[in-house]
Amino acid sequence: MKTQVIIVAAGSGKRFGASIPKALTLLSGMPLVTYSLKIFEHCKAVNGIIVVGHKGHLPRFTALCRGFKKVHAVVPGGATRAASVKCGLAAVDADTDIVLVHDAARPLANVAMVNRLIAALRNNKAAIAAVPVKATVKKVDPRSLAVTETLQRNLLWEVQTPQGFHKDVLVKAHACPFKGEATDDAMLVERLGVKVKVVMGDHRNIKVTTQEDMVMAKGLM
Ligand code: C5P
Repeated sequence: MKTQVIIVAAGSGKRFGASIPKALTLLSGMPLVTYSLKIFEHCKAVNGIIVVGHKGHLPRFTALCRGFKKVHAVVPGGATRAASVKCGLAAVDADTDIVLVHDAARPLANVAMVNRLIAALRNNKAAIAAVPVKATVKKVDPRSLAVTETLQRNLLWEVQTPQGFHKDVLVKAHACPFKGEATDDAMLVERLGVKVKVVMGDHRNIKVTTQEDMVMAKGLM
Protein backbone atom coordinates (compact mmCIF):
# COMPACT_ATOMS: atom_id res chain seq x y z
CA MET A 1 0.00 0.00 0.00
CA LYS A 2 1.65 3.21 -1.14
CA THR A 3 1.38 5.64 1.76
CA GLN A 4 1.95 9.38 1.77
CA VAL A 5 1.58 11.83 4.63
CA ILE A 6 0.36 15.40 4.52
CA ILE A 7 1.90 17.51 7.29
CA VAL A 8 -0.30 20.57 7.80
CA ALA A 9 1.85 23.42 9.03
CA ALA A 10 0.13 26.47 7.50
CA GLY A 11 -1.50 27.90 10.63
CA SER A 12 -0.67 31.51 11.40
CA GLY A 13 -0.17 30.78 15.09
CA LYS A 14 -2.49 33.56 16.30
CA ARG A 15 -3.32 31.75 19.56
CA PHE A 16 0.37 31.01 19.98
CA GLY A 17 1.17 34.71 19.92
CA ALA A 18 4.33 34.61 17.77
CA SER A 19 5.24 36.83 14.82
CA ILE A 20 6.09 33.79 12.65
CA PRO A 21 3.91 30.69 12.01
CA LYS A 22 3.87 28.31 14.98
CA ALA A 23 5.32 25.49 12.84
CA LEU A 24 8.50 27.54 12.36
CA THR A 25 9.02 28.47 16.00
CA LEU A 26 11.88 26.73 17.76
CA LEU A 27 11.41 23.90 20.24
CA SER A 28 14.77 23.13 21.87
CA GLY A 29 16.50 24.81 18.94
CA MET A 30 14.60 23.03 16.15
CA PRO A 31 11.55 24.32 14.21
CA LEU A 32 8.37 22.57 15.36
CA VAL A 33 7.61 21.14 11.89
CA THR A 34 11.03 19.46 11.74
CA TYR A 35 10.04 17.02 14.50
CA SER A 36 7.19 15.70 12.35
CA LEU A 37 9.44 15.54 9.29
CA LYS A 38 11.90 13.35 11.25
CA ILE A 39 9.17 10.97 12.45
CA PHE A 40 7.83 10.29 8.96
CA GLU A 41 11.27 10.24 7.32
CA HIS A 42 12.20 7.42 9.74
CA CYS A 43 8.95 5.50 9.30
CA LYS A 44 9.62 2.72 6.74
CA ALA A 45 5.93 2.33 5.85
CA VAL A 46 5.67 5.95 4.67
CA ASN A 47 6.71 6.52 1.06
CA GLY A 48 6.35 10.26 0.69
CA ILE A 49 5.77 13.50 2.58
CA ILE A 50 3.83 16.59 1.49
CA VAL A 51 4.34 19.69 3.60
CA VAL A 52 1.65 22.37 3.62
CA GLY A 53 3.23 25.62 4.76
CA HIS A 54 2.06 29.16 5.38
CA LYS A 55 1.98 30.93 2.02
CA GLY A 56 3.87 33.95 3.34
CA HIS A 57 6.80 31.79 4.50
CA LEU A 58 7.05 29.10 1.82
CA PRO A 59 10.79 29.56 1.05
CA ARG A 60 11.56 28.85 4.74
CA PHE A 61 9.46 25.67 4.67
CA THR A 62 11.16 24.59 1.43
CA ALA A 63 14.59 25.22 2.93
CA LEU A 64 13.74 23.20 6.06
CA CYS A 65 12.60 20.24 3.96
CA ARG A 66 15.81 20.05 1.96
CA GLY A 67 17.44 17.45 4.21
CA PHE A 68 14.47 15.07 4.02
CA LYS A 69 14.56 12.66 1.07
CA LYS A 70 10.89 11.67 1.33
CA VAL A 71 9.52 15.21 0.91
CA HIS A 72 8.20 15.45 -2.61
CA ALA A 73 6.14 18.64 -2.39
CA VAL A 74 5.96 21.80 -0.30
CA VAL A 75 2.73 23.62 -1.05
CA PRO A 76 0.99 26.74 0.28
CA GLY A 77 -1.96 26.20 2.62
CA GLY A 78 -5.38 27.83 2.91
CA ALA A 79 -7.33 29.94 5.37
CA THR A 80 -8.49 26.98 7.48
CA ARG A 81 -6.98 23.64 8.48
CA ALA A 82 -9.42 21.80 6.20
CA ALA A 83 -8.48 24.08 3.28
CA SER A 84 -4.80 23.33 3.96
CA VAL A 85 -5.45 19.56 3.94
CA LYS A 86 -7.17 20.01 0.57
CA CYS A 87 -4.09 21.84 -0.75
CA GLY A 88 -1.98 18.90 0.40
CA LEU A 89 -4.34 16.36 -1.16
CA ALA A 90 -3.88 18.02 -4.55
CA ALA A 91 -0.16 17.17 -4.34
CA VAL A 92 -0.62 13.49 -3.39
CA ASP A 93 0.52 11.04 -6.10
CA ALA A 94 -2.22 9.50 -8.25
CA ASP A 95 -1.13 5.95 -7.34
CA THR A 96 -1.17 6.52 -3.57
CA ASP A 97 -3.46 4.17 -1.64
CA ILE A 98 -3.23 5.59 1.88
CA VAL A 99 -3.03 9.22 2.99
CA LEU A 100 -2.07 10.13 6.54
CA VAL A 101 -2.67 13.63 7.85
CA HIS A 102 -0.58 15.03 10.68
CA ASP A 103 -0.55 18.39 12.46
CA ALA A 104 2.88 20.00 12.65
CA ALA A 105 1.62 21.24 16.02
CA ARG A 106 2.16 17.69 17.38
CA PRO A 107 5.94 17.30 17.48
CA LEU A 108 5.85 14.32 19.89
CA ALA A 109 4.08 11.73 17.76
CA ASN A 110 6.15 8.59 17.19
CA VAL A 111 6.87 5.88 14.63
CA ALA A 112 5.15 3.13 16.68
CA MET A 113 1.90 5.08 16.62
CA VAL A 114 2.18 5.65 12.87
CA ASN A 115 2.75 1.92 12.36
CA ARG A 116 -0.32 1.04 14.46
CA LEU A 117 -2.36 3.40 12.31
CA ILE A 118 -1.10 1.95 9.04
CA ALA A 119 -1.74 -1.62 10.28
CA ALA A 120 -5.35 -0.67 11.12
CA LEU A 121 -5.81 0.67 7.60
CA ARG A 122 -5.37 -2.84 6.18
CA ASN A 123 -8.88 -3.66 7.38
CA ASN A 124 -10.42 -0.21 7.79
CA LYS A 125 -11.00 2.74 5.47
CA ALA A 126 -10.20 5.24 8.23
CA ALA A 127 -8.19 5.11 11.44
CA ILE A 128 -7.17 7.69 14.01
CA ALA A 129 -4.79 7.88 16.96
CA ALA A 130 -6.48 8.75 20.23
CA VAL A 131 -6.04 8.35 24.00
CA PRO A 132 -8.64 7.67 26.70
CA VAL A 133 -9.69 10.86 28.46
CA LYS A 134 -8.24 11.21 31.97
CA ALA A 135 -10.33 14.14 33.18
CA THR A 136 -14.07 14.43 33.76
CA VAL A 137 -15.63 16.26 30.82
CA LYS A 138 -18.82 18.32 31.07
CA LYS A 139 -20.92 20.15 28.48
CA VAL A 140 -21.40 23.78 29.47
CA ASP A 141 -23.88 26.32 28.18
CA PRO A 142 -21.67 28.94 26.46
CA ARG A 143 -23.79 31.89 27.64
CA SER A 144 -24.73 31.06 31.23
CA LEU A 145 -21.69 28.83 31.89
CA ALA A 146 -24.06 26.38 33.60
CA VAL A 147 -23.28 22.66 33.30
CA THR A 148 -25.75 20.98 30.97
CA GLU A 149 -24.35 17.44 31.04
CA THR A 150 -21.56 15.32 32.50
CA LEU A 151 -20.28 12.96 29.84
CA GLN A 152 -19.53 9.33 30.66
CA ARG A 153 -15.77 9.29 30.87
CA ASN A 154 -15.18 5.67 29.90
CA LEU A 155 -16.72 6.40 26.47
CA LEU A 156 -14.53 9.43 25.74
CA TRP A 157 -11.26 9.48 23.81
CA GLU A 158 -9.17 12.50 23.03
CA VAL A 159 -8.36 12.48 19.36
CA GLN A 160 -4.87 13.18 18.04
CA THR A 161 -3.06 13.14 14.75
CA PRO A 162 -1.82 11.32 12.73
CA GLN A 163 -5.07 10.17 11.20
CA GLY A 164 -5.11 7.85 8.19
CA PHE A 165 -7.51 7.18 5.33
CA HIS A 166 -7.84 5.32 2.08
CA LYS A 167 -7.26 8.14 -0.40
CA ASP A 168 -10.64 7.90 -2.15
CA VAL A 169 -12.45 8.29 1.20
CA LEU A 170 -10.47 11.36 2.24
CA VAL A 171 -10.90 13.01 -1.16
CA LYS A 172 -14.66 12.39 -1.02
CA ALA A 173 -14.91 13.69 2.55
CA HIS A 174 -13.16 16.94 1.67
CA ALA A 175 -15.30 17.39 -1.44
CA CYS A 176 -18.54 17.51 0.63
CA PRO A 177 -19.38 21.03 1.83
CA PHE A 178 -19.13 21.42 5.60
CA LYS A 179 -20.66 24.13 7.73
CA GLY A 180 -18.57 25.25 10.68
CA GLU A 181 -14.99 24.41 11.60
CA ALA A 182 -13.66 20.96 10.77
CA THR A 183 -11.08 20.49 13.53
CA ASP A 184 -9.97 17.10 12.23
CA ASP A 185 -10.35 15.01 9.09
CA ALA A 186 -12.15 12.10 10.71
CA MET A 187 -15.21 14.25 11.41
CA LEU A 188 -15.56 14.86 7.68
CA VAL A 189 -15.21 11.14 6.97
CA GLU A 190 -17.74 10.18 9.70
CA ARG A 191 -20.42 12.12 7.76
CA LEU A 192 -20.01 9.65 4.89
CA GLY A 193 -21.02 6.80 7.19
CA VAL A 194 -17.51 5.33 7.04
CA LYS A 195 -16.38 3.50 10.21
CA VAL A 196 -13.41 5.22 11.84
CA LYS A 197 -11.18 2.84 13.82
CA VAL A 198 -9.34 4.13 16.88
CA VAL A 199 -5.79 3.02 17.62
CA MET A 200 -3.86 3.90 20.76
CA GLY A 201 -2.08 7.21 20.48
CA ASP A 202 0.25 8.49 23.16
CA HIS A 203 -0.43 10.84 26.06
CA ARG A 204 2.87 12.59 25.26
CA ASN A 205 1.63 13.44 21.76
CA ILE A 206 0.30 16.82 22.91
CA LYS A 207 -0.85 19.59 20.62
CA VAL A 208 1.21 22.73 20.93
CA THR A 209 -1.31 25.58 20.87
CA THR A 210 -0.02 28.09 23.42
CA GLN A 211 3.35 29.06 24.84
CA GLU A 212 2.73 26.92 27.93
CA ASP A 213 2.26 23.86 25.69
CA MET A 214 5.74 24.58 24.34
CA VAL A 215 7.11 24.38 27.89
CA MET A 216 5.28 21.09 28.40
CA ALA A 217 6.56 19.69 25.08
CA LYS A 218 10.10 20.58 26.10
CA GLY A 219 9.59 18.75 29.39
CA LEU A 220 8.19 15.67 27.68
CA MET A 221 10.99 15.37 25.15
O1 C5P B 1 -5.02 25.87 14.46
P1 C5P B 1 -4.72 24.50 14.96
O2 C5P B 1 -3.69 24.51 16.07
O3 C5P B 1 -5.91 23.67 15.25
O4 C5P B 1 -4.00 23.80 13.75
C1 C5P B 1 -3.70 22.43 13.71
C2 C5P B 1 -2.71 22.21 12.59
O5 C5P B 1 -3.27 22.66 11.36
C3 C5P B 1 -1.39 22.99 12.80
O6 C5P B 1 -0.30 22.15 12.51
C4 C5P B 1 -1.52 24.14 11.82
O7 C5P B 1 -0.28 24.59 11.30
C5 C5P B 1 -2.40 23.55 10.71
N1 C5P B 1 -3.18 24.57 10.01
C6 C5P B 1 -2.99 24.73 8.64
N2 C5P B 1 -3.69 25.71 7.97
C7 C5P B 1 -4.53 26.54 8.62
C8 C5P B 1 -4.75 26.37 10.01
C9 C5P B 1 -4.05 25.37 10.68
O8 C5P B 1 -2.21 23.99 8.04
N3 C5P B 1 -5.13 27.50 7.94
